[in-house]
Amino acid sequence: MTPQILIVDDDDSIRDAISEYLSMSDYRTDVAGNANEAIERLSEKNFDVVITDIIMNGMDGLQLTEHIKAVSDASVVIITGYSRDYTYETAIHKGADDFVFKPFRLEELLLRLKRVLRERKTAQERNHILEEFKILSITDHLTHLYNSRHFHAQLETEIIRHDRYQRPLSLLMIDIDHFKRFNDAYGHMEGDRVLQRIGKGISSVLRTPDTAYRYGGEEFTILLPETDLEAAIRAAERIKEEVEGQMAALESPYDPITLSIGATEYLRGETAVSFMKRADKAMYKSKSKGRNCISTL
Ligand code: GH3
Ligand code: MG
Ligand code: MG
Repeated sequence: MTPQILIVDDDDSIRDAISEYLSMSDYRTDVAGNANEAIERLSEKNFDVVITDIIMNGMDGLQLTEHIKAVSDASVVIITGYSRDYTYETAIHKGADDFVFKPFRLEELLLRLKRVLRERKTAQERNHILEEFKILSITDHLTHLYNSRHFHAQLETEIIRHDRYQRPLSLLMIDIDHFKRFNDAYGHMEGDRVLQRIGKGISSVLRTPDTAYRYGGEEFTILLPETDLEAAIRAAERIKEEVEGQMAALESPYDPITLSIGATEYLRGETAVSFMKRADKAMYKSKSKGRNCISTL
């Protein structure tokens, strides 16, 4: 994409010369005659780089730089005449990405602009990779639900939120029934397909604040903020119904896959461990009742 450059200078001849030169070098340019105009342009569209004079009537280039850094991610190149009031250090400290002294050659400004744009590209690529790593580190590769590491972090976060606002919080523990038998009969890869379908089924019935995790092999946890036990049971029923429907849609004549679910509500002041243990116990209650059901504790 062609970089968008905003040139801010109260001297029209400098402003227009820069704009014309950069346009000839295939950049898209806009101009502003003072900081307020620049702020208006910045609110209208995104710029990659702002080139600004430092000494202007009203808000000066340094104040403008501070404003830009607070409201956008544009880079800033500052242009200045030699002045004891404005040092290179001050400009960089305010967030400027480069600095050009007047009188300057347009060729030099262009080289500096190119370097700033290269650095922006590298930073954007790095941020993108970091973002992907962050997502990978909390995602279960098979089901694309969150993983257990994220579960523990979110559980702590939700407990803190509960303690602060005293809103209900519930937890579901889900375990596939006789899954070993299924794997032994149809193979591990078919088992993996079932796990993926269950993951999709769970996601499709959850509400926005609810989050689902593959806690371990064939175990899932669901965190339900703003949800009391009664509503948590309804969520568990929706999950069971959806998964049963998904399994019925499988073309092969498999044994029906069923779920044992434990549901429990957070008790004020208890630890994450005791909350989880109760959900686990509730799930085992379902197992001992003959599986394929929902139990509470
Ligand atoms: P129960 O009803 O008591 O839960 O019986 P179960 O067979 O489901 O329980 P058990 O804990 O004995 O075995 C869990 C099985 O889940 C073991 C393994 O075959 C299967 N499993 C765990 N992780 C995976 C996985 O990633 N892929 C597949 N295909 N199977 C898995
Ligand atoms: Mg299990
Ligand atoms: Mg199981």
